[in-house]
Amino acid sequence: MIQLIRGFKDILPGEVELWQKIERIARELFEDFGFNEIRIPIMERTELFKRSIGEDTDIVEKEMYTFPDRKGELVTLRPEATASICRAYIQHKLYSPDPAQKFYMIGPMFRRERPQKGRYRQFYQIDAEIFGVQSGLVDVQLIFLLVTLCKRLDLKDVGAHINSLGCPACRPQFKAALTDFLVSVGDKLCPDCVRRRDRNPLRVLDCKVPSCREAITGAPSLLDHLCDGCRSDFDLVMESLTKLDVPFVIDKQLVRGLDYYTRTAFEIQTTSLGAQSAVAGGGRYDNLVKELGGPDIPATGFAIGFDRLAELVALNAPQPVQQPDLFVAALGAKSQTLAFEWICKLGLDGIRVETDLADKSLKSQMKRANRLGAPYVLILGENELEAGEAVLRNMRTKDQTSMSLENIVDDIKFQIKGTKSQLG
Ligand code: ATP
Ligand code: MG
Repeated sequence: MIQLIRGFKDILPGEVELWQKIERIARELFEDFGFNEIRIPIMERTELFKRSIGEDTDIVEKEMYTFPDRKGELVTLRPEATASICRAYIQHKLYSPDPAQKFYMIGPMFRRERPQKGRYRQFYQIDAEIFGVQSGLVDVQLIFLLVTLCKRLDLKDVGAHINSLGCPACRPQFKAALTDFLVSVGDKLCPDCVRRRDRNPLRVLDCKVPSCREAITGAPSLLDHLCDGCRSDFDLVMESLTKLDVPFVIDKQLVRGLDYYTRTAFEIQTTSLGAQSAVAGGGRYDNLVKELGGPDIPATGFAIGFDRLAELVALNAPQPVQQPDLFVAALGAKSQTLAFEWICKLGLDGIRVETDLADKSLKSQMKRANRLGAPYVLILGENELEAGEAVLRNMRTKDQTSMSLENIVDDIKFQIKGTKSQLG
């Protein structure tokens, strides 16, 4: 038997309802806050990700699905959405006439990492980006949205972590101080980090190797090296979060795994998912649009790990599987043909009906109706058919009523819609 690819997964019925619910709540929230949906391709030129995410990052160094297409052009399955959304923003001049734009997208991403719980090779993200506004208040809006989404999903065990990554004016001094520190702890770093120390020392702060995490506990903090502009921007972020009653933790080791970030970076973290603690991450990237060949327009955004979010929600509230509104137990070929017609008509009215066309016994059909959790069973046997009626059985009360076949589709609709509205 052919199995699915390692690190990929199916989202099966029973689980998918939860994904639909999360997606519905997220979309509603984005629309309320004036975000427009954007859909971007699954595959882009490799160059786009190399230039935006950065050559010395985990993603570009070892996680991308990159291959030459049939004409030899290097293409990559998207590992994240920001680069593509920037590309679209520039390519279609979405900044003209108004650079201030808000987008969201939901879809699969691909990274070839070591699969484990909460870490897959195809995973899903819910992504939001705001272009054209250079203010920490917009970062606050994003954090506020994330926290609100978590609240609407009844998540308790989540918190916002924030840091500032400075800007090209203040980061070089910090990098120098950090490099000195990293040289001093030299032999405690993993081989990757020793290499990164010279090329991209910030990356070391993001390393997941336990010995590296320990080695950097005394590392200098970017927050002590911010220039005046970055300092007052970060103060504004903290002040505004406080005013909005959004609790947060200042996390000076939060640097994010991508190169394009500036100023505020943030994550939503949980303690309920073991090692995979980041449910969402994001931050400001004021220079990326320009670096990708567009105008000098600031931006900020986040990505939620949909898989991790769904795992977290499922821990709190297991989702019920969708049940049919009615099961039709039809006996004999004539009854089945008739029942089949009803099912098609009822389906058009949003009434979910299951039946059995294999001519099983009444007993085994009733068993199946029970297993599916149908609240009503309509029984149509040959005797009933002759008498021009069918029997509707309420599976909870066990009451049975005869129904004339004449107007039966409308009568059933009436009965079931009545029950549904009572249940709210
Ligand atoms: P991590 O530190 O867990 O590797 P990351 O910093 O690489 O995460 P981002 O690029 O910031 O992740 O992506 C945003 C979110 O996407 C993460 O917070 C996480 O919830 C989710 N995510 C990232 N990689 C994976 C993956 N391989 N499988 C499932 N979810 C993922
Ligand atoms: Mg990662």
